[in-house]
Amino acid sequence: MSACTRCGEKPFYTRRYSGETLCIQCFKDSISEKTRRTVSKYRMFGPRDRIAVAVSGGKDSLSLLKVLCELYRPRRNELVAISVDEGVAGYRDEALTHARSLTEELGVEHVIVSYKDLFGFSLDEALDWKEERPVSSCSFCGVFRRRAIDEAAARANATVVATAHNLDDYVQTFMMNLMHGDVARLGWLDPEYVDDSFPVRRVKPFMEIYEEEVALYAFQAGVPLQSVSCPYMHEGLRSEVRDYLNVMEANHPGIKNVLLRSSLDVISRFVRASEKESVPCRSCGNPSSNGLCNVCRMKAEVEEHINTQS
Ligand code: SF4
Ligand code: ZN
Repeated sequence: MSACTRCGEKPFYTRRYSGETLCIQCFKDSISEKTRRTVSKYRMFGPRDRIAVAVSGGKDSLSLLKVLCELYRPRRNELVAISVDEGVAGYRDEALTHARSLTEELGVEHVIVSYKDLFGFSLDEALDWKEERPVSSCSFCGVFRRRAIDEAAARANATVVATAHNLDDYVQTFMMNLMHGDVARLGWLDPEYVDDSFPVRRVKPFMEIYEEEVALYAFQAGVPLQSVSCPYMHEGLRSEVRDYLNVMEANHPGIKNVLLRSSLDVISRFVRASEKESVPCRSCGNPSSNGLCNVCRMKAEVEEHINTQS
């Protein structure tokens, strides 16, 4: 590897898709620069926004918190970290410990909400009746997690929620929507699409950064790595899509970047088609497509099961 293309220092990483070789500092700076450019290109934050960073405690979200603090605190944006405790014994505790220590180190306010407090049951309790449900654990969990993030963002008085989805996540989601035949939902992926079903706007500042580079950043920035995985994680199709894209990228460096551009182009043509009419949920008042939101519907199913068990 030759010297850093930017400053001539000791090389650390070569971006195969661009041919650029970087030292550790220039690599970290490049991640911050890319994030700043993405935020500005898609108008993710304004100067008055109070930004809630959704911190699961995994390396991606901790890295996002670090990068956003470095970039936006000097611009006087207020930042707050929000975490969701799903209630998975042995898994979330470690992640939350990492989240707590980084927020303390950075001096960032940290709001934590739990499924148990919000919905009356932990994920462990809810998934006890797993075999009877037609949806995967992550799809089930995701419905409650989205609502929990909204609740945490409201408690934090945030005006925007930043999540750590990276380029790989973005392209995988695009391809999975195609494979599931969910063409009408493609428009929801548009970075400037405002989804009225979320009370607080969602943005993805890492959406133009490769997963591999976020991981490298995390390692170099001293972000702690989680040693335990969620026992319910079942990615099925997503992990096959991830493996396929990684093989394609190894054989054709830069192909993920091209796929991102193509996805954004296709998605932009579906924004209007994806706009949805919503009506307030008769139970909780949140937006819903048919008068009862998914959270209230699924919560009632869990409660019914828990009651019949006792
Ligand atoms: Fe929920 Fe799936 Fe994440 Fe586990 S891996 S916390 S089930 S979304
Ligand atoms: Zn509801």
